Amino acid sequence: MKKRICPACNKGSIVDLKKPGRRTPYRNIPDLEIPAELAIPTCDHCGEEWVDAATSARLDDALKEAYQSVLPAKVENALRQLTEAGVTQQELERLLGLSVGYLSKLKSGKETSTQLIGMLMMLAAEPSVRVDELRELWRTTTSSPQVVETKVTEQGSSMRMVITDVLPSIPAKNVSLSGHDYPRGQRQTTENVVEASGRFGRRSAS
Ligand SMILES: [Zn+2]
Repeated sequence: MKKRICPACNKGSIVDLKKPGRRTPYRNIPDLEIPAELAIPTCDHCGEEWVDAATSARLDDALKEAYQSVLPAKVENALRQLTEAGVTQQELERLLGLSVGYLSKLKSGKETSTQLIGMLMMLAAEPSVRVDELRELWRTTTSSPQVVETKVTEQGSSMRMVITDVLPSIPAKNVSLSGHDYPRGQRQTTENVVEASGRFGRRSAS
């Protein structure tokens, strides 16, 4: 291989260099270590690295692998902090909607989910507050009275609100808006139901 002079300093020559301690930002890791055995063309005088297409491809593969190998450590660390705070893996799996044993797979690197790992890290940063919040949120959101959906009527011309499963105080006949459950003369209109609920100020213009 012919000697290449470094265009940055015009003094050194570019040689394939393998060495530990080189770091680079990668995805959500600000200082991922580049594997020591990966050769990167580097100026032997100023240290500038010259990454050609071939090196770039090898670097991508190496970083992907390095990234996959740092994630389990993040999981293990977060789970240890959570366990120390009295939150079991089983409860976490339940709270996060995971199958039983999933966190062990995440910890061993058999499964990868950076979103989930980020979530675990956030919970682990302040377990007593955040896990409690999560417990509370799951408890309350299932009975939230804010859920409404809109549906196009049979005529397809106007929208009306369908209140689903959220207003247990209203007799069932008043929340059934299928339009088929009433004699023609007694069909419930959107306005009737909105008024009956007492919770929604806005009426649909008809
Ligand atoms: Zn140089």
